[in-house]
Amino acid sequence: MAKIPRLLPENPRLFRARVVRTERVSPSMHRVTVTGDDLHEFRYLGFDHWFRLFVQRPDQDAFRMPDLDGTKWWPTYLAIPEDVRPHCANYTVAAFRRLADGTPELDVDFVVHTDADGTPEGRAAIWACGTRPGDELAMLDQGCIFDCPPDTSEVLVAAEETGLPGVVGIAASLPRDAVGRIIQEVPSRGDVRPLDAPAGVTVTWIVRDEVAPHTVPGRAALAELQRHVPADDRGYAFVVGESTLATEGRRHLHRAGLPKSRITFSGFWKHQARESVSA
Ligand SMILES: Cc1cc2nc3c(=O)[nH]c(=O)nc-3n(C[C@H](O)[C@H](O)[C@H](O)COP(=O)(O)OP(=O)(O)OC[C@H]3O[C@@H](n4cnc5c(N)ncnc54)[C@H](O)[C@@H]3O)c2cc1C
Repeated sequence: MAKIPRLLPENPRLFRARVVRTERVSPSMHRVTVTGDDLHEFRYLGFDHWFRLFVQRPDQDAFRMPDLDGTKWWPTYLAIPEDVRPHCANYTVAAFRRLADGTPELDVDFVVHTDADGTPEGRAAIWACGTRPGDELAMLDQGCIFDCPPDTSEVLVAAEETGLPGVVGIAASLPRDAVGRIIQEVPSRGDVRPLDAPAGVTVTWIVRDEVAPHTVPGRAALAELQRHVPADDRGYAFVVGESTLATEGRRHLHRAGLPKSRITFSGFWKHQARESVSA
């Protein structure tokens, strides 16, 4: 497989932007499209290019975002007085393009989720569903997590819906001679979408509503991943999503012979046990 460079920004930079439009792209995914002069300088890396998103909280009367960049941004962020500090959450670049007139546009896909009573939850997702054209936001570039060694024999990707924007980018960015497998769990059939994966990469969609309704996101993908045996010890795995999928997925792959150094895993969020959802 062709070499994939390590993709981390040397000096993470803040990009200010404003909302252009929003739309529900699938039953579980709400897309927010943003633009802004800063984005003329945004260098999209493909794969799972992600960023820290800063948005106005519902209790705030305006979006106030001080200058903040570099790798030591967290203390600066925490030093912002609590009542004016914007909300911060991690998101992936779902798509980046330049229109015919050169205007840059960036899509962010937010998983829409509810609590046990059906009430929308997740401060970023609630913002996404309620935001309007012209609303301001900021994004601190974080580069990519996907870090496939050049001697990789096969690529294995497993994710639930929060990883889908990254999986879309990884599938499209992989060298066309890559071989391997993608295991992608989504809440419902309507969330399945085409992936531009290399011919040698098999895509397994797992529709939670159909195979394991009411289970915690990621558990069905984990069960499928645990049935997978790596072909040799030169594979590379990328396992992201709910915390148990990431940690148990890594444990399985390591026990099955893949060195820890060849497994990227990241718990994107942690399920908190609720009586109506079976673990
Ligand atoms: C590198 C990276 C990239 C990510 N990219 C994306 C992306 O492109 N799209 C995306 O939707 N998410 C993405 N996530 C996951 C996202 O950051 C989390 O879902 C995060 O909790 C959302 O922030 P919030 O402020 O809305 O959540 P909070 O307000 O802190 O969460 C509120 C509650 O919702 C629960 N919760 C959070 N996410 C979910 C979920 N998906 N389903 C059910 N319950 C949930 C939490 O456990 C918590 O109890 C990414 C995470 C990482 C680390």
